Formats: sequence, structure tokens, C-alpha cells
Amino acid sequence: MSQRPFNFSAGPAALPEEVLQQVAGEMLDWHGSGMSVMEMSHRGREFISIYEAAEADLRDLLQVPQNFRILFMQGGGLAENAIVPMNLSRGGKVDVVVTGSWSKKSAQEARRYADVQIAADGAGQRYTTLPPPSSWQLRRDAAYVHICTNETIDGVEFNELPDLKALGSDAPLVIDCSSHQLSRPINWSRVGLAFGGAQKNIGPAGLTLVFVREDLLGHAMAICPSAFDFKTVADAQSMYNTPPTFAIYVAGLVFKWLKAFSYAGKTGLAAIEQRNIDKAQLLYGALDQSRLFENRVAADCRSRMNIPFYLRGSYDEPRLNDAFLAGAKARGLLQLKGHKSVGGMRASIYNAMPLEGVQALVTYLKDFEAQHG
Ligand SMILES: *Cc1c(COP(=O)(O)O)cnc(C)c1O
Repeated sequence: MSQRPFNFSAGPAALPEEVLQQVAGEMLDWHGSGMSVMEMSHRGREFISIYEAAEADLRDLLQVPQNFRILFMQGGGLAENAIVPMNLSRGGKVDVVVTGSWSKKSAQEARRYADVQIAADGAGQRYTTLPPPSSWQLRRDAAYVHICTNETIDGVEFNELPDLKALGSDAPLVIDCSSHQLSRPINWSRVGLAFGGAQKNIGPAGLTLVFVREDLLGHAMAICPSAFDFKTVADAQSMYNTPPTFAIYVAGLVFKWLKAFSYAGKTGLAAIEQRNIDKAQLLYGALDQSRLFENRVAADCRSRMNIPFYLRGSYDEPRLNDAFLAGAKARGLLQLKGHKSVGGMRASIYNAMPLEGVQALVTYLKDFEAQHG
């Protein structure tokens, strides 16, 4: 089989080729069952075994403590923007740190259910830097504090989770980690709830992962739909309603792929994190040296996953942007167009992107500059 193109989509995004091949091989008959996973009862022995392995592997990969429940839900990150306040706010106060487009959306949606305060806002710096936690205006009696740990559009990432206790707050921290979950470890001692849509770094769209500390279950507002009440979902092992079975199956294969992944003498999550660091360094290094292109994010909060880049000053014209994207596609470098709200280019280099893909992009950046710079 000829090599597939390198896919830089922000999401739904590339999956490991080995996983796609395994899915193809098992499509018509999963493990001699005579059924595709899509055709199985979610309550049958076969699917339960798929589900239990996926949950155990995920817990193992991220070292999720026993006092956290893992929920396999539907609705994506945007639905969680409503589901989380309905479950955690009790109609009270919610502090949101706005660091880009996604946390801004989270704040807007939470306003429908809670008294929302923007604890800090990076808009003044055009979301090229993260407001330092010491500057956050946190309310003592907030039900929780929301942050987005990787802003997929703006390309800023928290390299360390804030220690709310050290900031004088006892509120649980809620993190939207949609676009970098499983790219690095999570410091669970600083987290009350983490959520993320699967389609960026884990598997097919339709699956949403929620990790919730047990003491936060059971406080849903009366208006919360039963299917979105974390306690109902947790009590039913994510099978209160039919879960996204096929997406869970594919995600489970990705978890197995990650556990076996090795790189630079490491295995599992440590290995994928190291490769993510190396890929990001390679691309930022090339952009920083370029006369034609630039990334505008401050060095200490540059995302390892989503790297927006733009033509510099006098080169910045739509014609050159379009030429870059057309040339990229011709070389098998797909979906590099920037988000419509910010323009330019964006390379999303999630777990499934091999180092060779970033090397090919860097080579193209240099060739393009030699031709047009
Ligand atoms: C993509 C994304 C979302 C929205 O996810 P949907 O699944 O489309 O609802 C929310 N937050 C972040 C950080 C994202 O990257």
C-alpha cells in the first residue's frame, strides 16, 4: 500500500494507521462473533468486554485515581459546556479563565445555568499568552473554576495545571482537555473534573470522555436531563442510554496502541509525550527561523498539539496563503488551513502524527520560502 498523506486536521483528526487497519480487518466479524461491533448489543458479553478493556486501559494510561469515575458520554465538548454547570454549579457561582475561543464559549454557555465571572481574560494579548494564575480573580464560594488546558484554535496550552489551593480557593478545577487529552500525563491532585471530545486525539467523533471525582457526583440541577446527570451515568457504567459503541471500540484500540507505543527508550504515555515534545520543537524551531512564517504564541505556553502560523508582515496576503495550502495538498500534507475565525494556517500534530509528517511539513516550509521569500 502506498503511503497515506499526512493529515494535520484539528478534528476529527488522524488516527494511527495500525488502528484503522485493525478496524478494517474486524469490520465484518469481530473476534469470531459473526457481528460487526456496530451490530452488537451494548449489554452483550462481547461489547461489555470491549468496554471494560477500554476503561481499564484508559485508567492505566492516565493513572486515573480510584476516586475518579470515567464516563463514556455523547455530546462532545460543547455539550459538556452545559452538562458540567448543570451538574456542578448548583445554580451558584462559576469562575472561568478565558484563554481563547473554547474557554470563551464555555463561559457563555455556563451563563445559562450559573452566575459566571471571568476570572481572567487573555483577549488583551490576543490569546498569545496565558494570564498567570496569581492574577486570577477567584471567588471564595465558587462552585468550580473552569479552564481550557489546550486552546485548539489559538494554540496556547497549560504546561502545568494551576494549584487552586495555593491561590486560596477550595473550588474544584474543571478542565476542558479535548484537544490534548492523552498527549501528556494529568496531575489529578489538582483536578476535580476533566472532559474532552474524542475526535481530536482519541478516536471517532461521537464519544466524549469525562473524568469526575466521586464527591462531585449527585448534585445535578433538577433541569438536568437524566442521560446527562453524571451520577446516573456513573451508576449505570455509562450504559444508562446506549453509549457510542463503535467509537468506544475504536478508542479502546487507540488505548492499546498507546500502551504498546515506544519511542526514545520509553513506552506508553511517556513515549508519546516525548515524541509530541520533539515534533513540536521541530516545527516551532522551523517557524522561528523562517523569514516568511511566524507563530505568535509566547514560548512558555505554546501548544504541542495545535500550532497556528501566519505569513509575516509584508508577505501576509491571501494569494500567498492559498498558494501555500494548495502546494501542501499537492505534497500530501492535508488540512493545514487555519480556523476560519483566525485565518492563516494551523498544523495539528496529535498523537497519531508521526515525526516524519512534521519533517515533511518543515521541508515544505523551507522549500516554499526558497521559492517565495
Ligand atoms: C473541539 C473542541 C470543543 C468542541 O467539541 P465538540 O465535540 O465539537 O462539541 C471544545 N473544546 C475544545 C478545547 C475543543 O478543541
